[in-house]
Amino acid sequence: MISTDAKITVISGSGISKASGVPTFRGTDGLWKKYNFMELATPQAFARNPKLVWEWYYWRLGLVSQTEPNNAHLALKKLESSGYDIMVLTQNVDNLHERAGSSKVIHLHGEIFQRRCIQCHDITYWKSTETYENPIIPKCPKCNSMIRPGVVWFHETLDPDIIQRSYNRLHVTDVLLIIGTSGVIHPVATFPYIAKQGNENLIVYEFNLEPTPLSSLADKTILGPVEKTLPLFVSETLDKGKE
Ligand SMILES: [Zn+2]
Repeated sequence: MISTDAKITVISGSGISKASGVPTFRGTDGLWKKYNFMELATPQAFARNPKLVWEWYYWRLGLVSQTEPNNAHLALKKLESSGYDIMVLTQNVDNLHERAGSSKVIHLHGEIFQRRCIQCHDITYWKSTETYENPIIPKCPKCNSMIRPGVVWFHETLDPDIIQRSYNRLHVTDVLLIIGTSGVIHPVATFPYIAKQGNENLIVYEFNLEPTPLSSLADKTILGPVEKTLPLFVSETLDKGKE
């Protein structure tokens, strides 16, 4: 039972995008098998060979733009449409939460559709109608410097402003939904503890394929594919809310 005036915060990871077909790139992926992840997703890699890095990102942009939100993303939107105050803190760089209709989304690791100037830090976004067929290094319309993908790479720190906004939300959260994340990567690993500090009555639900290090502090862990378990949970929550 979640009271209708509860503030709900979602922590989501790659498990929620899996059913949409978003590749995680942790394994070996055909075309890019010969490249080490570290040669494609670090500031050093970009300084060394920006064209190669952009080719990889164009390829990924093409893949992500062909995916659609799944029933887990849509279930969260359904909660929001039913009047719940819900905010999503996601580790994912795709925009599937937004495309499902969620209005409050914080991207902890940046956004693959974001473009950031390396000189003046101007931020723009790829249009959804873009085709990513001619990999060129994009140039800033304001200062003509190179534009880089707006994601957080290895060897980079997260945006302190984004971390602060996440903490502010966690401090006032009544219900935490941990969805499709192993919970071992910082800062997400600490988020449930930070939320607990702010509220002894915090309720934590975890949705995952298997137990994680965060399971021990969850009030309930619901195992299974999140695109099945989350819509069920949301339907039950909304039914109980009506009673
Ligand atoms: Zn610029």
